Amino acid sequence: MDKRLLDVVIIGGGPGGLSTALVLGRSRRTVALIDDGKPRNAVTHLSHGFLTRDGVKPFELRSIAREQLKPYKTISLYDDYVETVQYEESHFKTITRNGDIFLSRKVMVATGLKEELPPIPGLDEIYGTSVFPCPYCDGWEHRDQPLAVIGNGEKLLNYTKMIHHWSKDLVVCTNGPASITQQEKQELTHHHIRLVESPIRELMSRGGQLNQIIFQSGETIKRSVGFLLDTGAKQATMIPQQLGIKLDELGSFETKGHGTTNVKGLFIIGDAAKRFTGLIGAASEGYAAGVVLNHELVEEDWNSFL
Ligand SMILES: Cc1cc2nc3c(=O)[nH]c(=O)nc-3n(C[C@H](O)[C@H](O)[C@H](O)COP(=O)(O)OP(=O)(O)OC[C@H]3O[C@@H](n4cnc5c(N)ncnc54)[C@H](O)[C@@H]3O)c2cc1C
Repeated sequence: MDKRLLDVVIIGGGPGGLSTALVLGRSRRTVALIDDGKPRNAVTHLSHGFLTRDGVKPFELRSIAREQLKPYKTISLYDDYVETVQYEESHFKTITRNGDIFLSRKVMVATGLKEELPPIPGLDEIYGTSVFPCPYCDGWEHRDQPLAVIGNGEKLLNYTKMIHHWSKDLVVCTNGPASITQQEKQELTHHHIRLVESPIRELMSRGGQLNQIIFQSGETIKRSVGFLLDTGAKQATMIPQQLGIKLDELGSFETKGHGTTNVKGLFIIGDAAKRFTGLIGAASEGYAAGVVLNHELVEEDWNSFL
């Protein structure tokens, strides 16, 4: 057990947590960053859209960030998994799988989400290499290619509009009867987008590359890339719930501005709070929340004699 009272424990070392660590290190704060190294985008080969790092490997971005934390000697990095966080009198107590215990004045949760993919045969093998969730991350690389939208429900039309912007060669696969309105079906037809309602039997691929979609109807359609509307993403950890934070209707932890929450001293940022911030969005939130967090500590220290 680290008997010192740390300023901050950061749980999760993705772009959100690492960015908070950087701003807190530069603010002379004592910090333990605990991360079990399973980022949401680990399945991808390259990440896009991060200014100055477009096309970077997911783990490369992290290792550069970890390297740049080294000069800040008040930051310690731990490869471990946080099991529980409790609030005791005036501080938080964080307990890890390895049995380490950390006491801190504040806790930053940046644990992200984990996908629970729909049970489509062949999807697991190619999710992140030729089936993607986000056109901003992977649309450019597959512009004008034969694409498939895989999904159903009320968000389908908007998602399809978006993917159609990157390629007009588009088929929508609802993997069962389409639950969209007649008007929406007409809009798809108007834009020459074929709707296939037959359940998907299998996504056929080679070396991580989708090549055809086989339907239960017996039909086969050649496609090189799919975009998946609902990836079934769930919270990677329920730690904030242990401290009384609720999930909203989308499955995000409820937060207020700059990652603050209803629990004093507890912050939540990144995908855990916003579902899909993207790498630069998580990093940006981490920075802003770190500044607010440091400001709180400065105020508390300044007023401690009162
Ligand atoms: C397939 C795919 C492709 C993507 N491509 C891109 C892209 O090209 N560009 C882009 O901007 N965004 C992309 N994203 C989105 C991006 O990955 C996320 O928005 C971003 O990673 C969120 O950052 P974060 O810091 O909130 O969480 P994460 O990056 O997921 O980091 C969370 C970290 O917390 C750790 N953790 C979780 N629970 C615990 C615990 N209890 N104890 C210790 N550690 C814990 C995890 O192991 C992980 O390392 C993609 C997402 C997916 C699914």
